[in-house]
Amino acid sequence: MVRSSDLIDPSVAAGEDLVVLRPEGLYCPAGNFYIDPWRPVDRAIVTHAHADHARRGHGHYLAHTASRDVLRTRLGEISLQELAYGESIDHFGVRVSLHPAGHVLGSAQVRLEHRGRVWVAAGDYFVSGTRHDPGDSNATCTPFEPVPCHCFITESTFGLPVYRWAPQRDVFAAINHWWSENAAAGRCSLLLGYSFGKAQRLLAGVDAGIGPIVVHAAVDALNRAYRAAGVALPPTKLADQVNDKSTFRGALVVAPPAVQQSGWSRRLGETSEAFASGCMQLRGARRRRNVDRGFVLSDHADWSGLQRAIAGTGAGRVIVTHGYEDVMVRWLREQGLEAGSFVTEYGDDHEQVVEAQAPGAAGAGQVGP
Ligand SMILES: [Zn+2]
Ligand SMILES: [Zn+2]
Repeated sequence: MVRSSDLIDPSVAAGEDLVVLRPEGLYCPAGNFYIDPWRPVDRAIVTHAHADHARRGHGHYLAHTASRDVLRTRLGEISLQELAYGESIDHFGVRVSLHPAGHVLGSAQVRLEHRGRVWVAAGDYFVSGTRHDPGDSNATCTPFEPVPCHCFITESTFGLPVYRWAPQRDVFAAINHWWSENAAAGRCSLLLGYSFGKAQRLLAGVDAGIGPIVVHAAVDALNRAYRAAGVALPPTKLADQVNDKSTFRGALVVAPPAVQQSGWSRRLGETSEAFASGCMQLRGARRRRNVDRGFVLSDHADWSGLQRAIAGTGAGRVIVTHGYEDVMVRWLREQGLEAGSFVTEYGDDHEQVVEAQAPGAAGAGQVGP
């Protein structure tokens, strides 16, 4: 049961839900601020710097310190208050703190505490579904931490049982093998992944001993933010500065999907193309993407990761956002939890793709505006 908001006056809202849905976005009536709003508001807490969560035009932003560089690059000179993980502030009696979400650099869950009630809005997050494997986290950011709460607001980008990620070391072994074979044959390996988050995760995970690594300028811009934050990435060359085209033979080139079949990628010479995304799990996704290889690597939790994350909070109530809301809500209710959904405008930035509709999934593949 979702209480979509008709609560306008913050004082009236005291004792009610800590987060409600408004046309502008997720709203905390007690604190009079929004979380990842999609329309301009006065005060916004931003979970991470992906474009569907961090939008232009807000009066004041609050985000994790490590999001600063990417936010400023994307949004310009915004009024930004920064918090470290675990640090808290008090806003109109609501205690606000940020906790690692394991999704991208600076990604945070937002914990709200007011009069003994605790709610957590997780934003996008990555939790491995593989139990007891501490190495199976996103190496390019602080791993997800379960935060105990009464109500947990969760994404559901890959909230279908068909989504089960293999351990990352297996995925990277497959990528390294593909790159090695191409290098031996004198081909370039073009690995497509979104430039903020996925590209850095790929760079951090591959075996840099196989050959030179070349990146697109869009990836390089984000690499700088990651390196500045102390994240170890292998040495890379900027593609536009490679004059000797023979460099591309045997190289791994990491670029955003937009370069596919462009003049930019044609100059790489003979190339094997691969795409790295969670949506590659679905049959036919590789063919629809028109690539030689698909690697299933996601910065979002898979079906079992979502379940693990939810269980880890101990929440009795769960509100599901962007993805497969209907499937998740049904499953949560079967587990005896109180569950509902918020219709949001997230999900148009990165991994969700329109064609990634699985059979029988109502509301699947929602991509936002
Ligand atoms: Zn995201
Ligand atoms: Zn998102």
